[in-house]
Amino acid sequence: MRYDELVRVRIKKLIFVLIAAYVLIIARLFYIQVIRAPFYREKARELTVRKIALPARRGTIYDRDGQKLAVTIDAYDIYVQPVKIKDKEEVATQLSQILGCSRTQLLDTLKSDKKFTYVARRADIWIGDAVTRAKIFGTGSIRTTKRVYPGGTLAAHIVGFTNVDGKGIEGLERVYDKQLRGTDGYVVAEVDARGKIIPGTRRDRVEPINGGDIVLTIDSTLQRSLEHELEKSYKAHSAAGATAIMMEPKTGEILALANMPTFDPNNAKNSSAASRRDRAVTDLYEPGSTLKAMTVCAGLEAKAVTPTDIFYCNASKGIGRRTIRCSLHPPFMAGHGACNVAKILKYSCNIGAADIGFKLGGERLYKFEQAFGFYEKPDSGLPGEVRGWHDNWRDWADIRLANIAFGQGIAVTPMQMAKAYSAIANGGLIMKPYVVKEIRKPDGKPEQQFMPTVVRRVMSESTSAMVSEMLQGVVSEGTGKTADVQGYRVCGKTGSAQKASTTGRGYAPGKFIASFAGFLPLRDPRVVILVAVDEPKGTHWGATVAAPVFQGAATRAMWHMKVPPDNIPEAPKPVGGSKNGGSDTVESPVSRHPRLGG
Ligand SMILES: [Zn+2]
Repeated sequence: MRYDELVRVRIKKLIFVLIAAYVLIIARLFYIQVIRAPFYREKARELTVRKIALPARRGTIYDRDGQKLAVTIDAYDIYVQPVKIKDKEEVATQLSQILGCSRTQLLDTLKSDKKFTYVARRADIWIGDAVTRAKIFGTGSIRTTKRVYPGGTLAAHIVGFTNVDGKGIEGLERVYDKQLRGTDGYVVAEVDARGKIIPGTRRDRVEPINGGDIVLTIDSTLQRSLEHELEKSYKAHSAAGATAIMMEPKTGEILALANMPTFDPNNAKNSSAASRRDRAVTDLYEPGSTLKAMTVCAGLEAKAVTPTDIFYCNASKGIGRRTIRCSLHPPFMAGHGACNVAKILKYSCNIGAADIGFKLGGERLYKFEQAFGFYEKPDSGLPGEVRGWHDNWRDWADIRLANIAFGQGIAVTPMQMAKAYSAIANGGLIMKPYVVKEIRKPDGKPEQQFMPTVVRRVMSESTSAMVSEMLQGVVSEGTGKTADVQGYRVCGKTGSAQKASTTGRGYAPGKFIASFAGFLPLRDPRVVILVAVDEPKGTHWGATVAAPVFQGAATRAMWHMKVPPDNIPEAPKPVGGSKNGGSDTVESPVSRHPRLGG
């Protein structure tokens, strides 16, 4: 073969190879651009720029000692994209096993024509991880956070709860939602079909600002014991409801606040509205004889009466065409007889209290009740507070004046009553009650601190000291013996009021509110406790239904707060030198023979 022929053959071969290559390329392009076009169009559409929220972490709610009452933990929202899922039966089987949910329900969701829907919100972190690992096309998990209440029902009415989107719905979660929530950030970037950010495509990023923390005045130990004692009485007396408040009289700090029935904020959506009601601030009740303490304070402070004045009780007294009566118990079956102011309180004499009311007159009694805070909201910072009783003393007939003097026909909230008793305990000052001690920035530094606030002086120190002594007589010798705390001098007053009928006229037969308000120790009161039990069955006396709650919670409070006892019981002396003989002969220094009273 000649050289030039060889070259021509080779050129031909080369051209052939080149043509073949072109044909292949064109065929491939045809395949990609025409035949596979729908697939690649879909793929490209999924590569979109998206703004993805970076959720801020909600702040923690602490009790006064740093115990966590509400915390935020990591969680996942699990989603599906039903339109993308081909084998819906198989995905339903796999996913229902991971989520632990109904396969049938899940299959219904997958068979819908939705582009995107959640199948689980705020799922535990291991569930989210399992979904990610399973790599099922058309399913995925989004990192989020979840609110958890480690104490369960503990302080549920104060703390409240959030909804599934992390917004505060009730309690302090609602009141301080703005401070707790923080500000969400975001990132703008390209995401893939699974919604994951493609590395290197980030265009903008704003970091989230986490929420601040809140420190309460609540003491978890005292809260737990108050809830426990209240629940015992609520159950033992098959009551319709019950509420109790423990307050530090000198500062107005709420140490504990309990309501029955109660609920678990971790499962708030399955609780009844009645169980979520913070009765301590939203419910009005008739204080009954616990209000006699205010009448006595008013009478002494206004100098309408003196501690040595004598009043007479013959069991009943006619006022116009009406008659008022005393609840009588042995040994006073014919009336309380000659009573000074202290005895009126000690045996809860209605007629004596009415007479103090008459000596004061409507205007002065009204003004004292106003100064005690009964016409204003207590301003505790808890949501849903009501004000209650409000009328004009000029409209009071004598019978109404008498009734108000011994606590009937008026309505107050438990918080108002706790606030009023704190004034007797602390030397005459109305303190603003409060539950939030401090708001902290996300870095833990204080943002706002709350201090004790004096609202007004309602009586002199000497009047408050006098009435405190009298209230101590109620517990040591009178109707309040069941509130006694061994080793301490306890002050308090029982109450038992018939409930107003729902028709608005007269009283509901057999329906009472039993209450007790008191404080200890007499010398330097550390806690005020108010207990009100709604519609107890079988018995309705404050002494049997409410005072034991006070006793249990107060005993615990004295131990927990390490308050030195007023009277240290003498150590038992060994009898005849025998080690075994001593203890049997020692009697309890406290006798428990409750004398019931109104
Ligand atoms: Zn009487």
